Amino acid sequence: MPKISRIDVLTLCRYIKAVHTSVEIDRYDEDDDVESYDGDPRVEYRVQTVTEQSVYHCPRGISIHRGDPGKCGKECNKTLRTLQLDSDYKSYRDEDGLEITQIKSRTTIVDSILSGS
Ligand SMILES: [Zn+2]
Repeated sequence: MPKISRIDVLTLCRYIKAVHTSVEIDRYDEDDDVESYDGDPRVEYRVQTVTEQSVYHCPRGISIHRGDPGKCGKECNKTLRTLQLDSDYKSYRDEDGLEITQIKSRTTIVDSILSGS
């Protein structure tokens, strides 16, 4: 077993006190703009599939109307009335989406603690 001197332990303790780490966690869904930190090892991304409950679908299949029936207009409502004749049609459906967790960690070393002043 390697011998650790008292001075090494004191230096190590001072170093541990001088290192400060902060972590910031943000969650986004797949439609959000996520700021990219490509190549930055301090930023980690975790992506997981989540089931979104009752997501609105435009009867005309217009993607920018997805999730908000207020964006549909007269033509969409006209198509909806036609589609509702088919009893299997559903405007709201459960579907899988992606949730992105962005973890930003920042490590700083407080020089005054490290130098013992
Ligand atoms: Zn629509």
